[in-house]
Amino acid sequence: MSSQVCSRCSRVIQPGDLFYSLLIKVFADFDGIIKIKDKEVNWSEEFEKLKSIPEDLINEEVYKEFQFVLCPRCKEIYSANPLNLPLGESASDSDD
Ligand SMILES: [Zn+2]
Repeated sequence: MSSQVCSRCSRVIQPGDLFYSLLIKVFADFDGIIKIKDKEVNWSEEFEKLKSIPEDLINEEVYKEFQFVLCPRCKEIYSANPLNLPLGESASDSDD
C-alpha cells in the first residue's frame, strides 16, 4: 500500500503506520412535523419549482458525506473538539 497524507496536517503516513479514517455524514433529519406557511399550497407549482433545481444540488441539501485520513495526533485533536466549538467559557459551563 502506498503512503497516505493526513488530511489535516499533511503529514505523510507511511505504510504500516497507525492512521484513522474520519467519515462525516450530514443528512437532513425529520421530526414528523411539516410547517406550511401558506394555507393554500399549490403542490403542482411547488413540484415544478423543485424540478427546476438541479438534482445534485437537492441531493447535497439532503445528504453530504466527507471522508478524511487522520494521523494519530490529528485524531486526538479532532476527537477533543469535533464541532470546533470555541474553547473556554462554554466548555467549562457544561462541566458542572
Ligand atoms: Zn495530522
